[in-house]
Amino acid sequence: MNSFRACLAFQRNRRDVARPAARRRHAQVLLLMLAWGAAAQGTSPEQLLLKDFKPRSIYRVPATKIERARHPVIDMHAHDYAKTDEQLAAWVRTMDEVGIEKAVVLSQAHGKAFDAVIARYRKYPGRFSVWCGFDFTGYDQPGFGPAAVTELERCFKAGAEGVGEMGDKGKGLSFTRPAAWGMHFDDPRMDPLLEKCGELGMPVNIHVADPMWMYEPMDQFNDGLMNAYQWRLDNQTNALSHAELMGTLERAAKKHPRTLFVACHFANCCYDLARLGAMFDSCPNLYADISARFAETAAIPRAAARFYRKYQDRLVYGTDMGRGKEMYQTTFRVLETEDEHFYDWNLFTYHWPLYGLGLSDEVLSRVYRENAQTVLQKARANAQSAR
Ligand SMILES: [Zn+2]
Repeated sequence: MNSFRACLAFQRNRRDVARPAARRRHAQVLLLMLAWGAAAQGTSPEQLLLKDFKPRSIYRVPATKIERARHPVIDMHAHDYAKTDEQLAAWVRTMDEVGIEKAVVLSQAHGKAFDAVIARYRKYPGRFSVWCGFDFTGYDQPGFGPAAVTELERCFKAGAEGVGEMGDKGKGLSFTRPAAWGMHFDDPRMDPLLEKCGELGMPVNIHVADPMWMYEPMDQFNDGLMNAYQWRLDNQTNALSHAELMGTLERAAKKHPRTLFVACHFANCCYDLARLGAMFDSCPNLYADISARFAETAAIPRAAARFYRKYQDRLVYGTDMGRGKEMYQTTFRVLETEDEHFYDWNLFTYHWPLYGLGLSDEVLSRVYRENAQTVLQKARANAQSAR
């Protein structure tokens, strides 16, 4: 406060009145001091708000900067982030810098919207795999099915290599336009579409549920609170539970053994990886992407690394967090290093620190690229064997 008063006195210094540059400088000093005063006040634990709590690690432990992934990478979970040719060129430059060989663009689109997306990404052959969405128009009317299958075939011929991202957080498949409220993944109306995906060799990316913290009460016991609150599902009514949604995924995968499914975000089972393991065990056509769940797994590095080792042929790398260079590098740091107790407040809002998983070369090369290639090749092989 003393320095604050001194600054005000400084401002009133009459010699400076006629010198605009000096006045500006003094105004900047004043602002800095105000900010400093506010920060100093916030250090009282009684006044500090949880949302403002952004700790910084002071441990003197290794902090590794991974400029580029150790092996070539296929990012199995990106979206249509580049809306102009310039943005697309910048994305490809970043991919080259960090070692992303190819990105799967989950467009979720059909019709003209899909055609526009695929036309843009076609300028970089081999660098992008564009996936389409189902057209659920009329899903709640009798006769739904044949037209949606025809549109799927049209997208396939136009270059769609898979379908996704579909999503059901409890009230139905709502990630596409139009949304299919009340229709879940294992609904019989989905059968002709999911069968056709197997026939055409198109893998299906599906988001079911959300991390368990979103279902917990938003109170002092919720250890994922600051992230969970943003995406809360605890206040939903008439929605399937997390366990029921896992059931829809498992039943659909079993019903369509020829179709390959990629459940994104570890099927939202980070809190209980054994649940995902059980689904892998019972569904050989099921894979999972690791996108947007780096913070959730970096909190339990030993258990997560064990899971990666056990299911190293079923997990595929993905991001789902934009196309920034630092974003890619943080994901590599989590997977490759044994760095401890670090934060990335740009990407994550959980209040726990991150720990590198230190995955082996063998596991990394599978997760980074080989499994993604397997998904695409196996889907095509299944399709051919059916013809
Ligand atoms: Zn996504």
